[in-house]
Amino acid sequence: MKYPDRSLTILDEKEQGFALPIQEYSIPDIDISLQPIRSFKDLFRLKALTRVIRSPIVKNIFSARVINLRSIESLKNARRSLEDVYNRDYETNIIYIDDLHSINVDLSYEIRELKKDTYYLEHGEDDFIDYISRLYNMFDQHVIKGLNFLDSLQFNCFVTDRDGTTNNYCGHYRSSIQPVYNAVFLSRFASLCTENPIFITSAPLKNFGILDVSVNSDNVFIYAASKGREFLDFDLVEHRAYIDPVKQARLDQLNLRIGELEHKHEFEKFFYVGSGLQLKFGQLTIARQDVKCSIPEDESMELLRSVSDIVRELDPDGSVFRVNDTGRDIEIILTVDGENGVKDFDKGDGLKYIDSRLGLDLGRGPHLVCGDTASDIPMLKTVLEYTDDVYAIFVTRDAELAKKVVSICPNTLIVPSPDILLTILGINALTRKRQKGRKAPGIFI
Ligand SMILES: [Mg+2]
Repeated sequence: MKYPDRSLTILDEKEQGFALPIQEYSIPDIDISLQPIRSFKDLFRLKALTRVIRSPIVKNIFSARVINLRSIESLKNARRSLEDVYNRDYETNIIYIDDLHSINVDLSYEIRELKKDTYYLEHGEDDFIDYISRLYNMFDQHVIKGLNFLDSLQFNCFVTDRDGTTNNYCGHYRSSIQPVYNAVFLSRFASLCTENPIFITSAPLKNFGILDVSVNSDNVFIYAASKGREFLDFDLVEHRAYIDPVKQARLDQLNLRIGELEHKHEFEKFFYVGSGLQLKFGQLTIARQDVKCSIPEDESMELLRSVSDIVRELDPDGSVFRVNDTGRDIEIILTVDGENGVKDFDKGDGLKYIDSRLGLDLGRGPHLVCGDTASDIPMLKTVLEYTDDVYAIFVTRDAELAKKVVSICPNTLIVPSPDILLTILGINALTRKRQKGRKAPGIFI
């Protein structure tokens, strides 16, 4: 899990010769200077560098080590470089795909989260909470309600989605690096208040996946990706669910055909915006829109039509793939056998698979399930199959979705933003009485 980005291995070499066995705490001696960001490659490389700095910062915080001020300066320079993109040539938000093509991008996630991180590191947690409380309406009321809701409970499973739930939505998955404050709040809650903290995301596990954007302390979370079809356990062992080789061969063909679309000028941009192209275990996702709707609707629909044509060609009777269009992403998922014929693999199936490998003792609550969209409901339903002792927190402003979640799990709290959920979890971990909580190695509290 340490510095998985191979392009950055030079940083490891720099550390050689360090005599004490504490390399993993060492914040790499890279000074991010002000730099031009002209392409997505520049953007993603800069963000990868911030991960290389943020990850050991979190580790140091949990080990009661003081971090150096230079690393904060580097994070500030990363932010300033991104802010610069906004002001260049009086054209706002332009990033170039190549010499001829450019695209409007929204870097507000990247800039805002870097700003929050440096504020957190410079001013400490009390001032930081004050700072983010000013960014949201009724912040204090939501947090107090949340603390009462959690009631200092010790949870068996903490099953949570990432994007939109514990992480603010970002225009580009590759640059959605987890902020330091986010990792501190989450890891603290997970290690002190829960026994089995599990991320279940629809993004891939690695190359490029949840492991590449997370900076939580090591060995704290089980990272499940591709809706739970693949996961990394506490001991960093990877598990993958069985996939029918015939279906896998069809998915390989699909990956190839969709990949070819990048060479068509009209489709190239979809490989950079939003989720981009993600080749997952048992699934392919391609973005047709990002969170800020940067793509004109007719161009977005054109991609949907072309992708649907390819799927129909490869799977004329519709038995191998299920297509789920979220409006932002086109997800093409291999089917699994369900009670009434084939169905698509959901996060509930993923949770059952993790349980089959690790033995989560799902009959023993309480459990906490967190999500932000309808695709997170299956994990809630699955947990409820085993016990009623279930708490749910959904991050949504969608009244219909909120109503649906409450009808499934009456013990539900609705909050409007990931930052509010994070604050509830982070503070709850401070106020609960220490007892049986699973304590991750390296966590000092
Ligand atoms: Mg989500």
